[in-house]
Amino acid sequence: MELEYFTSREKALLGERYEALHTPLTEAPARGLTLNGLRPGARAAVEGCGLALAPSPFCREGYRLTDPSQRPGLHPYHKAGVYYLQEPSASAPAPLLGVEPGCRVLDLCAAPGGKSSQLASALAGQGLLVSNEYDPARAAVLRGNLERMGVPNALVLNETPDHIARALPGFFDRVLVDAPCSGEGMFRKEPQAMAQHNPGLVAQCARRGAEILEAAARCLAPGSRLVYSTCTFAPEEDEGQIGRFLSLHPEFRLEDCGVSFGSPGEQNRLCGYEADASLMRRIWPGQGGEGHFMACLSKSPDAPAGARPGKGRPKREKPARTPPLWAEFAGRYFPFLEKARVLEAGGRLYILPPALPAEALAGGLHVIRAGVLAGSLSKGRFEPDHHLFMVWGARCQNREELTLDDERTAAFLRGEEIEAKTAAAGYCGVLVDGFALGFGKVSGGKVKNHLPKALRNLK
Ligand code: SAM
Repeated sequence: MELEYFTSREKALLGERYEALHTPLTEAPARGLTLNGLRPGARAAVEGCGLALAPSPFCREGYRLTDPSQRPGLHPYHKAGVYYLQEPSASAPAPLLGVEPGCRVLDLCAAPGGKSSQLASALAGQGLLVSNEYDPARAAVLRGNLERMGVPNALVLNETPDHIARALPGFFDRVLVDAPCSGEGMFRKEPQAMAQHNPGLVAQCARRGAEILEAAARCLAPGSRLVYSTCTFAPEEDEGQIGRFLSLHPEFRLEDCGVSFGSPGEQNRLCGYEADASLMRRIWPGQGGEGHFMACLSKSPDAPAGARPGKGRPKREKPARTPPLWAEFAGRYFPFLEKARVLEAGGRLYILPPALPAEALAGGLHVIRAGVLAGSLSKGRFEPDHHLFMVWGARCQNREELTLDDERTAAFLRGEEIEAKTAAAGYCGVLVDGFALGFGKVSGGKVKNHLPKALRNLK
């Protein structure tokens, strides 16, 4: 009954294009993966690992998965963060932000983390990614995914967008708003999205998206860039949302998305606002993905700057004491981290991104991960953490090197002890074809398995 609202609205707006753009909801959904730029050699490894792939038109790092019987989520390369499973059209918005190494980037609606992973890849470990998720359970999933992808420079928050805008006004060079939406592009992937859909939900999502955009506008520095995206087709959440935002914010300008995939935005979806919808971009289900809408906006360089934390006179940060146990551990296994900026909190040791200003930690924000969790200090010992090895395991001085066809790889992923062949006694990074899988501790010729229990495959 409610689907009637969706189909009649789309037929009225699209006319005879409806059949071609909205392929039948009974068809299998498109599946895809996106390479992790933080894993050198990812492309050659993925292209040669037996997965059936076709290049994606929506993103240079994206592929379509063409064999529905394959389960790429169980592949060791997935565990090693070599790729992220991402529906092909969902990979389109993040590259539009034009993130470069060194940028300050905010992903306001980030879980489960597909687009944050792409933004982290573009940063190449330099600058800062603030990756926020409003829902606490989803924020934990986001943290886990960024850990798997080996991201070294993220501040993961569980916050409201408004609170972030209060704490870090005018701080960011790039902001992504991948808004919580009515999910009309999820109908084939998640039947629940179809069951819950109704006009009231569309109106509610449009209001919430508008609030998030307001917060995003406050977070942005003059001369910065905003990308707004949804996986819905509803006019009020897409072209109409952007038209409304532009009517309230003369300091923002709509930019051309500068891509040739998909189709331009639709002028008859502006909900009465004035804007050039052809500068916006859509991907329809009939174009090889489940559906996405995206728009790029720039904030005028002449917009009032606001108080930009970390710019101007730097706040003097008390240099943190390097705990001797960490210094000893880093000196033996990760000498390049000996002088890294660290934070000790609650018995845990974090390696902070150099670009993280003190204000971001002091602003009362709910931080669920700051930089890299190196390990814990307790009872006179330093115990390293999985996160440390997922980020820098390939550079650990002691490594157990596995390959895809080595049966020890599957055994390690099941949480079993494996024979040590390349690592000496002590902690070691465990790698598959050079990609970090986790860590272990060698003693008596065996690698004791330290893969977190929640990440182990069933025996
Ligand atoms: N960008 C993500 C990715 O690529 O993996 C997908 C994000 S999803 C479309 C939108 C997210 O916004 C959801 O995780 C949802 O929990 C979150 N959200 C819900 N309400 C929110 C709010 N009021 N403010 C910010 N985010 C919210």
